[in-house]
Amino acid sequence: MFNYYMPVELHFGRNCIMEKRLNIKNIGSNPLIVTGSSSAITSGALSSVETALSDLKVSYTIYSDIQENPKIESINKGARVFKDNNCDYIIGIGGGSPIDAAKAISIVAANNLQGDEIYQPEKISKAFPIMTIPTTSGTGTEATQYSVITSNKKKAGFGSSLIFPKISFLDPTYTITMPKTVTRDTAIDALSHLLEGLYSTKRCPLVYPLILSGVRIIYLTLEQTLHEPENYEYRKQLMIASLYGGMVIAQSGTTLQHSIGYPLTTEFGLSHGMANGVVMKQIMEINYPTVKNELDLLFSHLNITKNKFYDWLESLGLNTSLNLNDNFINIAAKQIYHSRNMALNPKTVTLREIENLLASI
Ligand code: NAP
Ligand code: FE
Repeated sequence: MFNYYMPVELHFGRNCIMEKRLNIKNIGSNPLIVTGSSSAITSGALSSVETALSDLKVSYTIYSDIQENPKIESINKGARVFKDNNCDYIIGIGGGSPIDAAKAISIVAANNLQGDEIYQPEKISKAFPIMTIPTTSGTGTEATQYSVITSNKKKAGFGSSLIFPKISFLDPTYTITMPKTVTRDTAIDALSHLLEGLYSTKRCPLVYPLILSGVRIIYLTLEQTLHEPENYEYRKQLMIASLYGGMVIAQSGTTLQHSIGYPLTTEFGLSHGMANGVVMKQIMEINYPTVKNELDLLFSHLNITKNKFYDWLESLGLNTSLNLNDNFINIAAKQIYHSRNMALNPKTVTLREIENLLASI
């Protein structure tokens, strides 16, 4: 059996917010706009949203206190701002961090949650409507039911169909200001989501065409984009691949690949994409015997061998050496072993295998 559910209204293309602004008219009358410190402004996305809202005569409040890998404290503070201003829906603008924060604020505000109750599904029964405008091409969060939050130095996602955005606007123009490293790392995150759509025990053949096409786009376009960052066509392609990745993990969830990345981010500050990238080859090697048919289908679509794929990964500069110490390996391996995503890995992996994997980075 396989299932498909992705109830997000999507608009894609240059200037899509202004062109489709009437579609946000009925969502609510007083949004909270959630952003990071600067990219919403420098990308031009915030100004487009403000123009559309003022054209609709909708007033709004801005909360721009979201850092990378958002912390529960920033979420709870955002929920207070939401309530103090009598907001009735939420607009997340930015990379995955502000958009995931917007999703979490919606849940915390609607259910009056305290502390880190967001991880207790039984306390969640409603959400305020969510609109998103991505400025990176990586997480696909504009099309998923997930939000990844850090609490007590532990990064963990939660999922609820209540936080699928009601509407998302994808304008590749906003991604042009991304620096090279953010462009590369976010594309690797999207690549990871697409590959995990082939690994997951919940894999959904309905989205295989998206996976094959998305990986091919990244394989053919990422380096060109790094050389020509202002090329709209390349930015558009990467944004499509990232959206595909979101539509894929909305069905299949993420796996060991993402579980391993989270402690690398919290402990060493590796970007989310890079944290996935440093173990991408090893994870593929572990999973290959179990999902050989799926991966061979991918390599034949790319017209390359597995080794050629590994060469390409290496050419992206993902092979950072971390020299993890034994104490970190012991703690992180247990955390990874017990994480939610592990259940979806195609092959059962032992604690010892995870320790060896970490030691090999
Ligand atoms: P991010 O953490 O949102 O942003 C990374 C950096 O890039 C920030 O400094 C940000 O600046 C900057 N930036 C963003 N857009 C920019 C632009 N257009 N121009 C210039 N700078 C820009 O990056 P992300 O990789 O998109 O998101 C990562 C987060 O998403 C992680 O917490 C990850 O776990 C999560 N995630 C969620 C899902 C999901 O389905 N919910 C899936 C995968 C990953 P500002 O701080 O100024 O904004
Ligand atoms: Fe991710």
